[in-house]
Amino acid sequence: MVETFDAVVVGAGHNGLTAALYLADEGWDVCVLERNDEPGGSVRSDELTREGYIHDTHSTNQNLFVGSQVFEEFGDELREAGLAFSRSDKPFANVYPDGESLRVYQDVDRTREAFEAHSPADAAGWDTLREEFGRFAETLVPLMGQPLPSVAAGRTLLDAVRTERPSGLIDLAQIPLSSTRELGDAYFETPEAKALMACWGLHIDFGPDVSGGAMFPFLESFTALSEGISVATGGASAIPEALTTLIERRGGEVRTNAEVTAVDTQNGRATGVTLTDGTTIRAREAVVANLTPTVLYDRLVDDAALPESFRETVDRYEYGPGTMMIHLALDELPDWAAGEDLSEFAYVHIAPDVDTLAETYTAAQNGQLPESPMLVVGQTTAVDASRTPDDGQILWIQVRALPSEIDGDAAGEIDATDWDTAASPMADRVLDKLETYAPGVRDSILDRDVHSPADLEATNPNLVGGDSVAGSHHLRQNFLWRPFPGWSRYGTPVDELYVCGASTWPGAGNNATSGQLCAQRVLAQPFEERVIETVEEYVGDAATAVQQRLS
Ligand SMILES: Cc1cc2nc3c(=O)[nH]c(=O)nc-3n(C[C@H](O)[C@H](O)[C@H](O)COP(=O)(O)OP(=O)(O)OC[C@H]3O[C@@H](n4cnc5c(N)ncnc54)[C@H](O)[C@@H]3O)c2cc1C
Repeated sequence: MVETFDAVVVGAGHNGLTAALYLADEGWDVCVLERNDEPGGSVRSDELTREGYIHDTHSTNQNLFVGSQVFEEFGDELREAGLAFSRSDKPFANVYPDGESLRVYQDVDRTREAFEAHSPADAAGWDTLREEFGRFAETLVPLMGQPLPSVAAGRTLLDAVRTERPSGLIDLAQIPLSSTRELGDAYFETPEAKALMACWGLHIDFGPDVSGGAMFPFLESFTALSEGISVATGGASAIPEALTTLIERRGGEVRTNAEVTAVDTQNGRATGVTLTDGTTIRAREAVVANLTPTVLYDRLVDDAALPESFRETVDRYEYGPGTMMIHLALDELPDWAAGEDLSEFAYVHIAPDVDTLAETYTAAQNGQLPESPMLVVGQTTAVDASRTPDDGQILWIQVRALPSEIDGDAAGEIDATDWDTAASPMADRVLDKLETYAPGVRDSILDRDVHSPADLEATNPNLVGGDSVAGSHHLRQNFLWRPFPGWSRYGTPVDELYVCGASTWPGAGNNATSGQLCAQRVLAQPFEERVIETVEEYVGDAATAVQQRLS
């Protein structure tokens, strides 16, 4: 007998789980199918180096989840199911080659003093940006939690126009539309302060000269200033585990080691899925895919179920450069040359200057291993001491940006062009760089675990080419254009097949928003659904025209 559920969710990333939770909360019978042995996707923790050392395998900064709608609505129950966060009030700092450093505290005055001591002009620029952030947060940030296009988003924009007047809004919009180099040049004097902002752009796929790159650094820097940085106490897996508990309490199921090989369709409608072992599971109402477009449409949906023009659209979906993760077990946290107190910060960025960031990004885009990649050094145990059973420490190092496929080495040292061979020498380059900023760190390493871009994709197929954000967030593929113009509200050309996840609006990060908004779309009444489709089609045509101009 074929098993049947109201909804089948493919992929237990935090968005897939969130979608399942909202559906189960409405009384739907849901089943989440996950190919890996644990739920969570890029929100997961494992013992990667030593017994009892719990590393956040991919994402570590959980600020977006803490600020999400799902946490607001289900926070009490998630906490009761074991979810807790450890927060650092020293969110991030940057170190520079000459021993200089800049620090951002969860304390407006202290941060300002740090900027003032570095450069009064930078302090003034920081103040101005902070004021702009206040205006932005009040008027435009709500859009990040709303479907695009939608009546709610239209209202938000209208309110923003009322509050700011068109001229104020146009003025404000200049910040997020800027590149990070433009942002730095407009507000700061010193190369250090300019790099402090620009390095956040490279967390996603914004080299310093890409328009629109300033939005994430602008939001992230000032959110860290007001909220600090939070990690999940005991490990990132606490998030998917708690979400799973809530789904199960509502009668839903989360099955692991269950890889879906096909979304089954009949007469243009999704009817269920098939697993690797040939098992079929039916869906009465909906199939929700927590998948990036190339995985969903190239591997799981039969060509015959998709219009030819849509296939071409899928082929145009672009991924950003790759990421490497280096997990270290240490006997002590780094002794930073720029100041002992830096070992207390959640993140230390090693991103010397804007030009080096530009070289790194260009090298990665051109298939070259960069000479000086940007490092995000997450000092996990400085935030959550429970991660090791003894006095040992954990570092989480994200290496940005790397080529997905290697054509050569900008430094002329690494001959390998496959990641299996190149990962280890590249990790050595990273650790040599770290050593110059934190002398002695290499001697304190007890164990290391290196994940190349190819390893990232092998662990999670959504990370195509090791792109940690599942698709470029450049303007032409964000907002109304994510993943495609006309399809930004989680629908697909196949009836009752929906998508959520980092490749859909509002994009990557542990915001859980697309899971929530996708579930709301699935639950929409027929009349509401017709309105959504009409608006989507109308706005989609305009969005396509704009995208063609931007391309
Ligand atoms: C290295 C790294 C560091 C990051 N750091 C941060 C950070 O600090 N803070 C932050 O907010 N964000 C960070 N991000 C981004 C963030 O983690 C992701 O954007 C987010 O987790 C994506 O969630 P998702 O719901 O789209 O699903 P994903 O995490 O992509 O999960 C999708 C799931 O689907 C499963 N799946 C795929 N194909 C199938 C199939 N055929 N059948 C069944 N299951 C399938 C996968 O195994 C996976 O478990 C980071 C990402 C990476 C990779």
